[in-house]
Amino acid sequence: MSLLAATGITKRFAGITALDDVRIAVDEGERVGLIGPNGAGKTTLFNCLLGLLRADAGTVSFDGSDITRLPAYRRARLGIGRTFQRVELFSGSSVRDHLLFAHRIRSGTGALWKDILGLGLPKPQELASCDALLESLGLEGMGGEPIETLSLGQSRLVEVARALMTQPRILLLDEPSSGLDRAETAALAGTLMRIQTDQGFGLLLVEHDVELVATFTDRTYVLDFGRLITHGPTAEVMKDPQVKTAYLGDMLVDTP
Ligand code: ATP
Repeated sequence: MSLLAATGITKRFAGITALDDVRIAVDEGERVGLIGPNGAGKTTLFNCLLGLLRADAGTVSFDGSDITRLPAYRRARLGIGRTFQRVELFSGSSVRDHLLFAHRIRSGTGALWKDILGLGLPKPQELASCDALLESLGLEGMGGEPIETLSLGQSRLVEVARALMTQPRILLLDEPSSGLDRAETAALAGTLMRIQTDQGFGLLLVEHDVELVATFTDRTYVLDFGRLITHGPTAEVMKDPQVKTAYLGDMLVDTP
């Protein structure tokens, strides 16, 4: 049984069929890629899996339970973490504030309201787990830094850290390489690989950067014009002539 699975997902926007009967599954601890050219429907599928968009048809299940009608915050509490294509951090707050906020959302004790009112002081163990996570991501000593002083690469890591504070069983990443150069992308991939291997959560990587997907994932799904055109072991998918010529062209890396 897959940890996260979606079948028959169809989504239309005013005459455009963004997704047409798409299925996807990610197992526990697996690294899966989702690729496709611009407008293929990747972000739409990502949002349907997260509950940020309601599909017109299809079902989504998590750990064997139907979550199709659950709102995004309840999916997050079940253990579906995510980062977005655009960095969504709050200026005026520190790195640690971002992590604590995420932790309170996941724990769902009502302490979030105290945070909003400025009343809930972090507990020592919350601070310790923030600092340990920052250290594991190579951001040691940066907890007190104002978020606006970080580079884009560091900001992406804070987004990952924030998602990891919710202790996800699966992490969905929408174009984490967006805006990063090759060296920054390689550094981010190395850090993600290390922490995913260490913690064992499942991972769905939505990416334009085919090289990143080729080196990082075990299996890959390919969307085009809202349809799933192929899926399978990443190395085989990358060699598929249909994918190579019709959809990825020169972007495709040569895989052994
Ligand atoms: P990119 O790689 O450029 O981010 P994508 O594969 O993520 O593209 P989507 O953003 O999911 O593709 O878009 C799929 C299709 O749905 C596109 O034709 C897009 O214009 C359309 N679309 C997406 N969101 C909306 C919306 N809110 N309203 C109308 N059309 C939309």
